[in-house]
Amino acid sequence: MALPAIFFGHGNPMNAIETNGYTEAWSAIGRSLPRPRAILSVSAHWYQPGTSVTAVSRPRTIHDFGGFPRALYDVTYPAPGDRALAERVQALLAPLVVGLDEKWGLDHGTWSVLRHVYPAADVPVVQLSIDEAEPASYHYALGRKLAPLRDEGVLVIGSGNLVHNLHAYGWGRKEVAPYDWAQRFEKLAREFLIQGDDAALVAYESLGRDALLSAPTPDHYLPLVYVMGLRRPEDDVTFPVEGFDGGSVSMLAIRFG
Ligand code: ZN
Repeated sequence: MALPAIFFGHGNPMNAIETNGYTEAWSAIGRSLPRPRAILSVSAHWYQPGTSVTAVSRPRTIHDFGGFPRALYDVTYPAPGDRALAERVQALLAPLVVGLDEKWGLDHGTWSVLRHVYPAADVPVVQLSIDEAEPASYHYALGRKLAPLRDEGVLVIGSGNLVHNLHAYGWGRKEVAPYDWAQRFEKLAREFLIQGDDAALVAYESLGRDALLSAPTPDHYLPLVYVMGLRRPEDDVTFPVEGFDGGSVSMLAIRFG
């Protein structure tokens, strides 16, 4: 049976060490799934020129943020790598040249979520970078090429945020109400997801001001575009995590299958 493909809204890195409604829902997702052989993660935080996959046997835990409590820097997520999966991704994406990377590791887009989904860190994890030079349609096409992984025991996840505007984010303040534009864009996106209108979501930059405010840069949106590419006609779409953080970050998780 095919594994689902899941987009996670990761939000604030502190979710890695907190227990809250979001993290409890992530844990519940882990318990609900058949155990994958490995995980392929597309994180907003590996956004660079070109396409690479992590290929080391012991990927390091990258603390790619600043100004957070020491406890967050002490976190490690020692999941093993999976070079065979990295090479499988290379083959699936050919003729695109995909680099086998030995310098990156697991960034917080991946480990802040997986620490709750698979706390034992015993499922091998490979990360796939997002080529910052390419448009959403290109990333959608790559996602489609990765679809066979769902039949090979690989859980493909995207980690970003459907709405991610840090200029408007309520740092340090409690219970900031979501902005109208953020709620409207999330609602519109959910309707397109339910209808299976991938084309509208791939062309998100043409969806007007709400979309521009919700995805002012592509990095946190594009992991969703990959996951949409793995969708199959028979898949249910569900939203196992919902909510807004700081008024301008959607924590919505989207599960296909
Ligand atoms: Zn992020």
